[in-house]
Amino acid sequence: MDFNIAHEIHAFRSEVREFIEAALPADISRRGRHDYHSRRDDVQRWMKILNKRGWSAPHWPAHLGGTDWSPLQRYIFQDELRRARAPVLDRCGLDLLGPVVCAFGTPEQQARHLPPILNGDLWWAQGFSEPNAGSDLASLKTRADLDGDHFIVNGQKTWTTEAHFADWIFALVRTDQVAKPQAGISFLLIDMTTPGVTRRPIWSIDGANTLNEVFFEDVRVPIANLVGQAGHGWSYAKFLLAHERTTSSVVSHTKRDIEQIRHLATLAKTPAGPLIGTHAFATKLAKLEAEVIALEWSVLRVLHASEGDAAGNSVASLLKLRGSELSERAALLAAEALGDHGVAAMPLSESDDATPKELPPIEDDEAIGVSAKAMFRRAATIYGGASEVQRTIIAKSILGL
Ligand SMILES: Cc1cc2nc3c(=O)[nH]c(=O)nc-3n(C[C@H](O)[C@H](O)[C@H](O)COP(=O)(O)OP(=O)(O)OC[C@H]3O[C@@H](n4cnc5c(N)ncnc54)[C@H](O)[C@@H]3O)c2cc1C
Repeated sequence: MDFNIAHEIHAFRSEVREFIEAALPADISRRGRHDYHSRRDDVQRWMKILNKRGWSAPHWPAHLGGTDWSPLQRYIFQDELRRARAPVLDRCGLDLLGPVVCAFGTPEQQARHLPPILNGDLWWAQGFSEPNAGSDLASLKTRADLDGDHFIVNGQKTWTTEAHFADWIFALVRTDQVAKPQAGISFLLIDMTTPGVTRRPIWSIDGANTLNEVFFEDVRVPIANLVGQAGHGWSYAKFLLAHERTTSSVVSHTKRDIEQIRHLATLAKTPAGPLIGTHAFATKLAKLEAEVIALEWSVLRVLHASEGDAAGNSVASLLKLRGSELSERAALLAAEALGDHGVAAMPLSESDDATPKELPPIEDDEAIGVSAKAMFRRAATIYGGASEVQRTIIAKSILGL
């Protein structure tokens, strides 16, 4: 890998930065600074702006609305979006479903589903996990039985991110009850407004509702909504999960977190002066930053070697494992920098006598939402495949154990 970043790459970064600075609406940018769960209307407004420029899905094939950028250019683009605190785009549509439809969808499916994703018109949710099928996804029970030119879907999905405002869901369903578990699974696109689909919110520890349960009761889904071949859903899911795990390394997010931690630790006071000047805290921050930089180079090396956006499954697992651990550590260190002030920023119950109401929050923009984010980030080593599962993949596929 050539570590001398060419002149054109610097020019590209400047072009992207100038565009984002000029085009990202100030109110969206301000909310992006405070809210780690992006709002649907903000994301949609921003996606329309990006789409006009032809930049809402740079990793898709150019003839389907993507770009012909190199992996490094795509990485720089993501890095600049995070730097500007732009809202996180519709990951389920752009990063998960989009590449599957580009690779395995029919021309009709591509024409119908890709343009609304690019323009942020329709929102997608990922319906893989079930109450008894998370790590052991192949044991999923939601079934789709053929009835003429429709499937009849019955079952339940859970932990479905943003299903409360999704228009469509892509789901793994069992279309063959006797085949081996993996061989009986198909990949189906389901309109959330179809009769028989209901959703129930799950409130997470940070006080937010991004997670949901989704129930299917005799839901009629046209056979035209089957992606690829019946019984091949497992291989499309593996393709999709490699994308999910590569992007789950979230290095650019963690880099922004480090800037935030440094800022907060400069404001936070200790008897010996600003927290950032204490040996213990400065050492933790330096160690985290060094590990994030090392991961960033690993991501760049993988992208360079694969000349694509999805690394192989096992390498994607390495990036996911390391990236999610570092992002959890960064969120916790930001909360540590806030100290007791972080508690004041949390919405604790009225009856909680331990609420230190007298503690004023650190009056700084960067302090808002830090504690809640630290709580939600705990999920990073669970979603997209728990760390233990990633370690097993690495042990088997890379270490040959
Ligand atoms: C915030 C969040 C968002 C999510 N969003 C979505 C979404 O949009 N769509 C979707 O489909 N799913 C989503 N998920 C679900 C996620 O993919 C699952 O939570 C994950 O795969 C783990 O499955 P589980 O929760 O059933 O835990 P389990 O599989 O029951 O695991 C429980 C524990 O046992 C460990 N374990 C399990 N099997 C093994 C094994 N073989 N060896 C060693 N240890 C093992 C796990 O590592 C874990 O620590 C989300 C989850 C979270 C937390």
